[in-house]
This record gives sequence, structure tokens and C-alpha cells, in this order.
Amino acid sequence: MINLILFGKPGSGKGTQAEFVKKKYDLIHISTGDLFRNNMSNNTDLGLLAKTYIEKGDLVPDEVTIKMLEAEVNTHPNANGFIFDGFPRTTVQAEILDQFLSTLNLSISLTIALEVDENLLIDRLISRGKDSGRADDQDRSKIQNRFNEYNKKTSPLINFYKIQNKFFKVNGVGDINDISTRIFNTIDNNI
Ligand code: ADP
Repeated sequence: MINLILFGKPGSGKGTQAEFVKKKYDLIHISTGDLFRNNMSNNTDLGLLAKTYIEKGDLVPDEVTIKMLEAEVNTHPNANGFIFDGFPRTTVQAEILDQFLSTLNLSISLTIALEVDENLLIDRLISRGKDSGRADDQDRSKIQNRFNEYNKKTSPLINFYKIQNKFFKVNGVGDINDISTRIFNTIDNNI
């Protein structure tokens, strides 16, 4: 069983690469961003709550996100493994994820951070925003706020997983297939 976390700043390609990894290793892909967006487009209570944070580029509160994540994992009792994309994003989320997985006799196998320069990410996000209409991708100050949230709240997780020897970096710039190959090699060499 492989349980993988994909890290990376907004726009770094987590969602794209998660799809390739999911297919190759037969994993369940859980993207908290996608789950929130589905809830927002269906106008659920969770979606309406999440929207107030997401549209500003803020993180949704931990307790809300964790509850949603646990419910999603529990819908796949026979999974071969999970790829977590966009979760955990804070130390509290990482600690609770470890506790939660241990109740299922599972643990994180490894974590991979896709590294891309912020200037390149801004260009990618603005162009994604034009195509998708995502409000949080269309405004430079919201994008900058998401980078700030990442640098302040998510970066400390690097150390959290480094001390467990579970943290690996992959260059996220270049051809999409080359980046996938780098990720596959990192997984195969470290599980
Ligand atoms: P990106 O990484 O491109 O910013 P995501 O699709 O992963 O986008 O997430 C979009 C937004 O959803 C985030 O900016 C945040 O507001 C919210 N979100 C997603 N995952 C989490 C999480 N684990 N904790 C808190 N908020 C989250």
C-alpha cells in the first residue's frame, strides 16, 4: 500500500501529476481543493462556508477540512492506497492525518514537493483563471495571499516529514511527462 502526499504551491501541478500517479499505482486521488469546489458548485452548507475563505485565498479552518477529508477516506475502505493533494496544509492537519491513518492501520509512505518558482506560478495561475473562471486564480493579491499562506502554514510540514525521512523534492518545471517520470522514480526509489 502506498499513501502519498503531493505538496506544492498553488499552480505547481499537483492535480495534473496526481492523475498520472493515481493511474500508475492504482491509488485513490483525494484533492481537498476539488472537494471544496464540488461543494461550492452544488451550494452545499460546506461549500457556502468554504467559499468565504477560498475566494480570499485564505485556508479553510482545519476542523472543517479534516472532517471532510476523513469522510472521503472512509468512503474507500478497499483502496490500494491514497494520494493526498492539497492536504495536509498545516501542522495540525498533518498530526491529525497521522492519528487518523493509524486508526486504520495505515501510514504515510512518502511526501513529494513539486518545486516551481513563484513568478512562473503567477503566470500559470492567471492563465488557468482565464480558462476556468476560478475567482482565486484571477487576482494577483489573492494569489500572493495563497503563496503567503503556503510559506507560513504549509512550509513547516517540510521539516515534519523530513525528520521522518519521508520528504522528497521534485523539479516541477519542464515537460509534463518528464515531471511524471521524476515523480515515479522518486516513488520507486523510496518505498
Ligand atoms: P491551489 O493549491 O491551486 O491553491 P487547491 O485546489 O488545492 O488549490 O485549493 C484551493 C483552496 O481550497 C485553497 O486556497 C484553500 O482555500 C482551500 N483548501 C484546499 N485544501 C485545503 C486544506 N487542506 N486546508 C485548508 N484549506 C484548503
